[in-house]
Amino acid sequence: MGLPVRAALLQAVSGPFVIDEVELDAPRAGELRVRVAASGICHTDLAYRAGAGRFPLPAVLGHEGAGVVEAVGEGVTGFVPGDAVVLSYFSCRACSTCAGGHPAYCEHGYAGNFSGSRPDGSFPMRWRGAPVRSSFFHQSSFATHVLAHQHNAVKVDGSAPLDLVAPLGCGFQTGAGAVLEAFRLQAGQQLAVFGAGAVGLAAIMAARVAGAATVIAVDLSAERLELARELGATDTFLADEPGLTKTLLKRTRGGVDFALECVGSPQVLRQAFEVTRPLGTCGLLGLPGRDAEVALSMTALLMGRRLVGILEGNADPKAFIPKLVALHAQGRFPLEKLRRPYDFEAINDAVHDMETRTAIKPVLRMPGGGTT
Ligand SMILES: [Zn+2]
Ligand SMILES: [Zn+2]
Repeated sequence: MGLPVRAALLQAVSGPFVIDEVELDAPRAGELRVRVAASGICHTDLAYRAGAGRFPLPAVLGHEGAGVVEAVGEGVTGFVPGDAVVLSYFSCRACSTCAGGHPAYCEHGYAGNFSGSRPDGSFPMRWRGAPVRSSFFHQSSFATHVLAHQHNAVKVDGSAPLDLVAPLGCGFQTGAGAVLEAFRLQAGQQLAVFGAGAVGLAAIMAARVAGAATVIAVDLSAERLELARELGATDTFLADEPGLTKTLLKRTRGGVDFALECVGSPQVLRQAFEVTRPLGTCGLLGLPGRDAEVALSMTALLMGRRLVGILEGNADPKAFIPKLVALHAQGRFPLEKLRRPYDFEAINDAVHDMETRTAIKPVLRMPGGGTT
């Protein structure tokens, strides 16, 4: 008999989440039981709700959890009950990719994050007596309590507001990490960001932190561009403006040092690549459709330009998330401007508002989670 907790179950592709009681295992070796205070909703949750996982339902999604450690399993080091944690993506911390400092591309990343089960194939939650997919990103944070692994839990300052810092686990880390970790953008350089959602806006905030001279934001929404400007964009453009590529090349005198695609569209990736200067780098952050392909000018590529896919900002959450928490505490990473809070029970409203682009970063507050 496991611990009775509440979780939002997805029972059918594109269906609503239904909150019900599930049973949660005791923590196994390496695991932590976390009482979830809050969880962000990320586009990957929406993609999996729409069937991207192709795994049997029901499932518990959610991968931007934050909360307090309640119990630890065998062999856990560095965490004790009472610790505040932000939960991020799972990596094994041992394969050659992890050892090389790139845990986002861990050899066990798929099994640990996207299978819906633990890496060994087991499930931490049961619903009506049957196991359910409940280890999404080794957390499934749309629940009041979860089992995370010590490898994807990040201890943060106890005074950090958990319902603000929860999305640092994925979306905000992705955008900020691309600029600060993958690009290592230097003061005085130029950045163009295509798509001013949570990821793109986090990249813009990070570019300001790094001292970028020019930060261009491109989006279809004038309202989002207004916010981009408030967060550090120096120039904003509507995505459907005719002749935009030419305009951007003129404005940047031949192209930007770094461009970021945060939409997942072949056309946008091509445009981002085209406004990158020779020797510049274009990064892909957006989640494309499974079979998406892109056509690029090989001559343009030959001019020293680089095109790189970036997962989770190429950041190691154990080091990077505390850095972002500290920047937020200094007022230099104003997450509150992107976050819209919802009660856990209103999860379907939060999903609707995200899909209709009225909310940038919905964060669910769990009952009894200690947030205000
Ligand atoms: Zn690994
Ligand atoms: Zn995510």
